[in-house]
Amino acid sequence: MSKIIKQICCANIYQFYQNVKCGKPAKVESNEKFYCGVHDPEKMQANRDKFMNKCRAERLSEMKVEAEKLAEKAVLMHKAECFDELLLALRDVIAVADQSTVEFDKARAAIAKATGSVA
Ligand SMILES: [Zn+2]
Repeated sequence: MSKIIKQICCANIYQFYQNVKCGKPAKVESNEKFYCGVHDPEKMQANRDKFMNKCRAERLSEMKVEAEKLAEKAVLMHKAECFDELLLALRDVIAVADQSTVEFDKARAAIAKATGSVA
């Protein structure tokens, strides 16, 4: 009868406030060390990679949303920067070519809305 030595998992685990060996029956051998199914280095690395990829995907998604909000804010800021200049230009056009047409009435209404005054 051959002598079979039962291998146990050599992974260090933290249990009851101290580091101890896992000690479960080994299922895999890696680099001349034995590990149980839970502490199989390849499986653990695959789980870590899967988790990191999930975290990266979530962060990338969050960053895309943040980038879209920043782009929207940049457009609003650009419009705000143009506001005074456009308002002044529209007032100047009204002043030199004031006519009683629907288009000029709309322009006067837009100026009133922008300045908060009554048309
Ligand atoms: Zn183990």
